[in-house]
Formats: sequence, C-alpha cells, structure tokens
Amino acid sequence: MIKHGNTTVDTIFVHCAATRADWYAGRSLADKVAEITRWHKANGWATIGYHWLIDRDGQTARGRPENVVGAHVANHNTGSIGICLIGGHGSNENDPFEKNYTPAQEESLRDLIDEIKDRTPITKIRGHNEVAAKACPGFNVSRWLAHKPAQKALAESTTMQASAVQLLAGGGTAITAVASFDGRAQIVALILLGIGLLATAWIMRERIRKWARETHE
Ligand SMILES: [Zn+2]
Repeated sequence: MIKHGNTTVDTIFVHCAATRADWYAGRSLADKVAEITRWHKANGWATIGYHWLIDRDGQTARGRPENVVGAHVANHNTGSIGICLIGGHGSNENDPFEKNYTPAQEESLRDLIDEIKDRTPITKIRGHNEVAAKACPGFNVSRWLAHKPAQKALAESTTMQASAVQLLAGGGTAITAVASFDGRAQIVALILLGIGLLATAWIMRERIRKWARETHE
C-alpha cells in the first residue's frame, strides 16, 4: 500500500510532457528526466513533480518516490501517483492515444498501471484533463482504458477459438458424413456380396442338381 501521510494512494493521473516527438532525440531518458526536473525546480518545486516517466521507446524512469506527494495536478496530488508520457506536444484532449504516442508507450503505460495496482488499491485512473481545463495528456484516459489491446487480443482469440470450434464441428460433420457414406458403401458391398453368394449358391445348386440328374439317369 502506498501512503501519502495518512492517505492511501488510490488514484493514478496520466500526464504528458508536452514535448515534440523528436524532443531530445538520441538523448538518454535520464537526460530527459534531468531536464524536466530543471523545469519543475524553476517552478519552485523541490524536484520533478511526476512519480514516473515513460519515454518514446517505452522505457520507464522513476521521478519523485511514490510515497512522497507529487506536484502534477492541482488539488489532487495527495493520494495520487503522476505518470508522465514523453511527447504530446500539440495534442488535444480527445485525440486517439496513437496520434501522439508510440505503441511501446502504450504497452509500458498499461504495464506500469498494473504494477502500481499491485502495490496500492487503485480505484481511479484519470487524465489531467478530467480535473483541469487542459489537453494533458492528449487523450481520453477512460476511453483508452476501455479499449485495452489485451481485451481486443482476448476477444480475437475467443473469435479464433469459436472459429476453431466451428471448424472442428464442420470437420466432425464431414467425418460423420464420410462415416455414414462408408456405412452405406459397406451395406452396398455387403448386399452385392450377398447377391454374389446367393448367385454362386444358386449356380452350384443347379450344377449339383444337373450332376445328380445325370448320375441317376
Ligand atoms: Zn498534466
């Protein structure tokens, strides 16, 4: 459980650095965190305001320790963890996630949220734009959460499983049809064999009769 004084942390706020996609390109995430720390110290804050940062390539870095109240969302800092996505410059509050961020960031953000949930009972995951007149983080967090790729993948695998079941059922039907065809073929073969045996028996009987007649004449 993560505590801010007596308050249990139960909220995650997602933010963006509002940096251009190529900001500090080729520089380490540590350098980017150091630069953002300079910006935040210039605001008069003790250090960087966010608890976590996620770079364009999905790498994560710690900012402020989780058990220290952050400086990322006015009036909501106590009891919340702030995650900052690098990028998001010029984004709008209802942009699709992928318009401003990378697939690697998507995966890391979901993983990080899950990890934080393991440490403290999170009940709210929100965007900065839900509590302030800001675009940050440049997407609708609730909508983004509701359209988890993991759920999509699960739904797809369920569809594939259903297709496999249908295929198996179809195959089963085909096998049943083949079996029943074989059954009929076997019956036909048995009938033909029976007719052949009867014909042979009749021919034999006629020959025996003929032989008997010839013998007794
Ligand atoms: Zn923000």
